[in-house]
Amino acid sequence: MAKEMDMSITSDGQFDHLKRICNEAGIKLTHQRLEIFKEMVAAKDHPSAEAIHRRLQKKLPTIALDTVYRTLTTFDELGILRKLRLTGERTLFDANLDRHHHFFCTRCKKIEDVYWPEFDNSSLPEGIGSIGKIRARHLELHGLCKKCLAEGNE
Ligand SMILES: [Zn+2]
Ligand SMILES: [Zn+2]
Repeated sequence: MAKEMDMSITSDGQFDHLKRICNEAGIKLTHQRLEIFKEMVAAKDHPSAEAIHRRLQKKLPTIALDTVYRTLTTFDELGILRKLRLTGERTLFDANLDRHHHFFCTRCKKIEDVYWPEFDNSSLPEGIGSIGKIRARHLELHGLCKKCLAEGNE
């Protein structure tokens, strides 16, 4: 489903957007699903299902981790958020659908969004058609973050 296009949504329209998509897909927007979505929108990091599950404990003490994981996966399939599979990391989720890439600190595991429109708009390598049709591109940049560099832990 990851078409190569800008799927950004304004924060005002986020809930309408969610409702509309769930409606179209014939998925009931339950209270639990809505809370999971809200938690993802509020998350400024790239949380794992476990992290979202922890954050929901206060509001939804009985929610199962499996429910959180399955809901996040459904949201990914519907294009509501993005499932990230960064090398060597657990599955993470990202509610930021603006076209972007990820910087990954190999020391502290911090993940930062990276915007690179020149890359997004650059032409694909010649001969890519013999491999297949590209629908999305995602760069994973690895290195040390500023903080880790300052600590001189190289
Ligand atoms: Zn770091
Ligand atoms: Zn991101």
